[in-house]
Order: sequence, then C-alpha cells, then structure tokens
Amino acid sequence: MTSLGDELREQWGRIQRMLRAEFGETAYRTWLRPLDLGGLEGDRVVITVPTQFMRDWIVSHYADRIRLLWAEVNPAVRSIALSVRPPQLRNAARTTAPLTDAGPAPAAEGAGERASEGAGLDELGAPLDPRFTFETFVVGKPNEFAVAAAERVAMSSTPPFNPLFLYGGVGLGKTHLMHAIGWRIRQRDPSRRVVYLSAEKFMYQFVRALRMHDTMSFKELFRSVDVLMVDDVQFIGDKNSTQEEFFHTFNALVDRGRQIVISADRSPADLSGLEERVRSRLGWGLVADIHPTTYELRLGILESKAERLGVEVPRPVLEFLAERITSNVRELEGALNRIVHHASFSGRPMSVEMAQEVLRDLLRAHERRVTIDEIQKVVVEHYGLRLTDMTSARRARAVARPRQVAMYLAKILTTRSLPEIGRKFGGRDHTTVMHAIRQIERLKDEDPQLAADLEALRRRLKG
Ligand code: ADP
Ligand code: MG
Repeated sequence: MTSLGDELREQWGRIQRMLRAEFGETAYRTWLRPLDLGGLEGDRVVITVPTQFMRDWIVSHYADRIRLLWAEVNPAVRSIALSVRPPQLRNAARTTAPLTDAGPAPAAEGAGERASEGAGLDELGAPLDPRFTFETFVVGKPNEFAVAAAERVAMSSTPPFNPLFLYGGVGLGKTHLMHAIGWRIRQRDPSRRVVYLSAEKFMYQFVRALRMHDTMSFKELFRSVDVLMVDDVQFIGDKNSTQEEFFHTFNALVDRGRQIVISADRSPADLSGLEERVRSRLGWGLVADIHPTTYELRLGILESKAERLGVEVPRPVLEFLAERITSNVRELEGALNRIVHHASFSGRPMSVEMAQEVLRDLLRAHERRVTIDEIQKVVVEHYGLRLTDMTSARRARAVARPRQVAMYLAKILTTRSLPEIGRKFGGRDHTTVMHAIRQIERLKDEDPQLAADLEALRRRLKG
C-alpha cells in the first residue's frame, strides 16, 4: 500500500462532502463519517470501517455510490475495498462512537443504562437506517394499506394484530416501513426493545449459537425482545432446525404479547420451503401487501426525494423518470441521484435529453421489447380493423391511416430498419414506410385525436 498522498486525502474529502450532500446530515454522521481512508492499493481504494456491522451496512447501502464517486473524482480508481479496522485502532482513530452519536433522537436512546443489558440485543439485530422513517415514506394507492397497518403497529402499545406480515416485490418499501416502525416505537417509548434483522441474519445467529452450544442464551435473548421484526423471510428456506427455532421464538413472543413484524417478497401462502404450520401461523395476523408503484406515486416519490436533496429538478425530467423507470423505487432513486450528480459535476442543466444520455444503460434495460406483430395487433384492435388490413393493398383512408400509424410506431418503438418494416406490412417499399412516418409526424401536431390515439397505443405497447 502506498502512503497516503495529500491528493488522495483531498479527493476523499470531496467525496465525503458529496456523500453528505446526497444522503443528508443524519445518515452522513451515522454511517459515512466513521469511514476512514486506508490508502490506495493499485487501482483500489481501501476504506476502513469500525465494525463488521457497519461494513455490511455500507456494502449494501452506500458502497456502489462511493465507488462511482471515486471513479468520478479519480479515474484511476477502479474499485473500493471496505475493511474493518483492528480494534486497537478504533478508539485512537475515532473521537465519537459511530453508531450511537447521531441519528434521529431515538438512536441516542438511553445509551448509558441500556448499554450493558442492551449489548446483546444490539449484536442481535441490525441498525435502523436513519433515512427510513414514516416522514420520508411517500404514501399512495399501492402502499396506503401497508402504511396504515405499519402505523397502527407503531402507535399501539399492545399488538393490534400479530404478526403484521408485509409483502411485496423488491424495492417497494418493505424494509423502509419496518425501519419506520422501529424508529417510531423507539421514539414513543425508548424502553421497548425493538430488534430488526434479516431472516438470513436470524439463521446465521442461530446456527452460530448451535455451533457454540449456546442456544439457551440465544433463546433468552430473542425472547426478551418487545418488538421483533424479521425482514425477507423467504430466505428462511429449508433449513429445518432454524425454521423450527424461528417458529418457537415466534410463538413464545406472541404468547408473551410481543409484537412481531415480518416481511417477504410473497404472501404467506406462497412461501414455499416453509412447513405448513409455520406458513399458516404467519398468516394469522394481518397480511398487507404493497403493490407495484403507479405513475403518480413514482412522481410523488421523485418530488419528495428531489426536495430532500435540496435540488431544483425540472418537472419534465421528473415526469420522464416516473414514466420510464417503473420497476421499483430503488432504481428510481438511483436514476435521480445519477442525474443530479451528473449535473453538478458537468455543470450542465438538467433536461430530458441529458437524462436520456446519462441513463442510457438503465433505460435500455427497461425498454420492453416491442415487436411489429404486437404493434399491428394493438393498432387493429384500437381501430376495429382486421390483421389482414395491415398487409393488404387497400388504400381507403379508414385502413391506410391506421396502417401508417402502425408503421410509425414500428419505427419509434423498435430498432427495425425501414425495409424490414416495409416487409412486415405486405412487402411495401421503404420509401412508402418513410412517407408514412413523415405523414404521421406532421399530422400528430395538427390532429389532437391522432395525438391521443398515438399516446394510448404507445402506453399499451410499453405497458
Ligand atoms: P424492499 O425492502 O421492499 O425491497 P426498500 O424498503 O429497501 O424495499 O426500498 C427501496 C428504496 O426505495 C429505499 O431507499 C426506500 O427508501 C425507497 N422507497 C420505497 N418506497 C418508498 C416510498 N413510498 N416513499 C419513499 N421512498 C420509498
Ligand atoms: Mg428489503
């Protein structure tokens, strides 16, 4: 490892400032400020973290971003490595305790008297992300039921339903809601012991306890929890002994009137690999699903996120993103971050063109492949024609115009060449196709009905 150049330090300082601006003061103080620059090994920057916990968290939440920022400020950097600082260096290097010195008020909760008895519990769970609160969660039709249920749980001192089972596709806010429940409960009553952890971590802890012949204290520990939240239980899978233990822990907690919150990417009934009695038990409380986002919700999330970043993002850019990045919220946020950063680095104003350019790879991945056959089918349905009208020689306006519309859509929605398109429309010449495209381009600006037809067709095809 080469010694730390001033230049590298200065670059790290810049990156830290960018991270702070991007993730906000609280997240920065909790997670990012405790990072130290270790040095440069070839084309890899080594960054040190105080604990394994933090390392895991940084890897799953911030590492990609940090790597990209490095590549931007120093093109020689290809990758980053996160290593846990040896304990003797920790106190010397740090003046503040990284995990507890910051975060919303609940994080600082009774640090003193809880420290000794709480130590085991801290080890047990994973930290809550300070960005994931109810305040930062945007509510819309697809998630309003899940949010209402989560708030109910967070505001009640005895379980209103047990367990609360949240499910939904990846990146739709399950983890965010669980953390929000955790923060709210701690805020309302710091004496309640809230433990949040992934199902994987639960399994790991249990297997480790087995290995160390210490399942007793494992059980004691879990059973002393007031609110247990287990994320992504689809991963509990087939490991029979852990499933069994999970089930016992679960029952023990429910019997004692403790709240349990579970998340999964599918409903209890669809959780394969779980024993029937476990599966049905999971469905006894309230099952709340989070549906895929709608355009309105995506737009709302983007607005809220832009406001949080403190940047003015032009409305058409937000609309463009909401329209095009439909998979999940994580990607949506990532896309917005990239644009905001690109703008601040390059000094270019944000625009739809710029977004298209910066997100080219992402947009391409989202591009649903539309075929000419599909276009023809949708067009004939829309206009009440028959499929043969697309390839026939009939020139009556009622048939010829929709055919031109289909050719136009084939041009803008597929990568087919004009001759290829012509062939699919009854072996027409490429100049005919060209004429059709020009015709539609001109007409759509004059004819609102045609413009509306095109919009409806596009939406259907891009679904
Ligand atoms: P999941 O656990 O369902 O895979 P996450 O909770 O990790 O999804 O959410 C992914 C990202 O999207 C997080 O950064 C989260 O804050 C954000 N997110 C998801 N839904 C919303 C929402 N409705 N409002 C604000 N942010 C959201
Ligand atoms: Mg999650």
